[in-house]
Amino acid sequence: KAYPHVPLNYAKIFVCVRKRPLFKKEKESGQIDCVSVANPVIRVGEPKYKVDGITKFIEKHDHRFDNVFSHLENSEDMYKSCIRPMLDKLFNDGVATIFAYGQTGSGKTFTMVALQELAITDIFSLAENDYASLDPQVSLSFYEIYSGRILDLLNNKKRLQVLEDGSNKIQVKGLQEISVESEEELKEAINYANSIRTTKATQANDTSSRSHAIMCINIRDGEGSIIGKFLMVDLAGSERAQDIRSNNRERRAEGAEINKSLLALKECIRALDNAKGNKEAHVPFRASKLTMVLRDSFMGTKKNICIGMLACVSPGYSHADHSLNTIRYAERLK
Ligand code: ADP
Ligand code: MG
Repeated sequence: KAYPHVPLNYAKIFVCVRKRPLFKKEKESGQIDCVSVANPVIRVGEPKYKVDGITKFIEKHDHRFDNVFSHLENSEDMYKSCIRPMLDKLFNDGVATIFAYGQTGSGKTFTMVALQELAITDIFSLAENDYASLDPQVSLSFYEIYSGRILDLLNNKKRLQVLEDGSNKIQVKGLQEISVESEEELKEAINYANSIRTTKATQANDTSSRSHAIMCINIRDGEGSIIGKFLMVDLAGSERAQDIRSNNRERRAEGAEINKSLLALKECIRALDNAKGNKEAHVPFRASKLTMVLRDSFMGTKKNICIGMLACVSPGYSHADHSLNTIRYAERLK
């Protein structure tokens, strides 16, 4: 029995899974859909043996999350329960960070782009109506982390450095932050950054699956102080962490970096969850570039911290191993 999706405004850390549809060309090449969803449970059938050429499945354990989304649900369904409930925090001294985790091709970018579009409309509506008295100003930064290097997607992929000052403040030095006056302007800037990120993907050396993209919308008050931040992080393909076994030295180094950052992210989220609001808790954010630049998402000075993990899975049976890995990673965050 599937339960309706609950709006996730009650939890500090929430973990969801989205299954994308099995594509026509996958069906044609003999792929079978081995993932079934009955909110809040997801089940992955791992192919184990063949009888007369037909693959038989061994059902794996069911995995339970805050919400799970099937291929029959659209991004708006996901938005309504996962993203919309946290937007008020952005105007109330809050930092909300959403991660998309999963193997390449599982729908991370598809999901993030759709959620960005929907969120922008509501952010502007909140800024212009409900919170107009704060005189909120909206601005955008957008960068990626590729093999430990920080590249500004709003400034020709200019390489930037992370600095930590005496008071433990982390700063990406020289990062572009563009102010936007309208929903359209913000959409345009985000589309531009997304396009800069993916143009390289069509070229011989596809880096987009090996980089983490970080979109950050800042809400500032009339004086310029930050009231809230909304981050959406499209993580590198989780299967790339296994490139540590590659024969190619460059791939191996990239894989090691991705492995390190995904592990560090898991540890930071778990530490935050264990801390239960204790400010002195040890969050090992220095363990990777990714977690370092996201310090404020885990342990900043903002009082309303909220983290969402959206784990994306492909339904095809040849991806079952990766899908299970993704689900296990997500499960450890709960
Ligand atoms: P990733 O970023 O994880 O590598 P993408 O977001 O690029 O994966 O998705 C891979 C392909 O699948 C794209 O062509 C995308 O349009 C398509 N896709 C992903 N999720 C969905 C979905 N829920 N519904 C329809 N198409 C999807
Ligand atoms: Mg992608």
